[in-house]
Amino acid sequence: MKRAQIVAGNWKMNLSFQEGRDLAKEIINNSSPNEVLMVLCPPFVHLNHLSTLVNGISHLEIGAQNCHHLSNGAYTGEVSAGMIKSVGCSFVIIGHSERREYFAENDELLTKKVDAVLGNGMRPIFCCGEKLETREADNQEALVQSQIENALFHLDSEAFSKIVIAYEPVWAIGTGRTASPEQAQEMHAFIRSLILKKYGHEIADSTPILYGGSCKPDNAAEIFSQPDVDGGLIGGASLKANDFIAIASSFPQH
Ligand code: PEP
Repeated sequence: MKRAQIVAGNWKMNLSFQEGRDLAKEIINNSSPNEVLMVLCPPFVHLNHLSTLVNGISHLEIGAQNCHHLSNGAYTGEVSAGMIKSVGCSFVIIGHSERREYFAENDELLTKKVDAVLGNGMRPIFCCGEKLETREADNQEALVQSQIENALFHLDSEAFSKIVIAYEPVWAIGTGRTASPEQAQEMHAFIRSLILKKYGHEIADSTPILYGGSCKPDNAAEIFSQPDVDGGLIGGASLKANDFIAIASSFPQH
């Protein structure tokens, strides 16, 4: 089965409205439709405008970096999944390690956020991954297994089929230190085996599993050539149009 190939750019808390618009236009003007889906995930203030810019462009979609788990109410400063959907987004990053670390997001909360995203007809890009000390203790598989089981395995098959998983070893995010292609493949195959046991072949074979962590134009091809790596969640390199496009062009040609 041929899986979707996805390259998502996590802009994090970067770029003014004008800078974001210029970056998106550069990406639009210099990328051409192919089988790779490019997802731009800017800060909230960009979402509405960028959704309009990519409207009708088949290889580009817009995603948010987070959402609140409730639909509305007295939660000053928060943005709901329904609001994100209403400006034309189709993806939301959930459980990024920076949100787990700096905003104390735990599995229980992430479960609710996943439900909110799916309930509004969008696809979660669910992030999982271990810290350095966990890898050094060789406990990375147990940790990732618990992150996935706790936040996703309450879903039925229909709902799970909308999930995109991003494996992001925390020690590789923004550090310039990337997982080796073998380390990425090993964890991606492990994640796929968990999905297989729970949901069966069809869903396991079709769930996109992205790699994230210092992915750049010069290492993307090697990582994307691994059989269970279906693309990337890109931080720093997604802020430069040429780098982001080069990464999206790094899939093996068949
Ligand atoms: C990320 O934040 O999801 C990420 C992968 O960042 P970077 O590419 O900068 O390591």
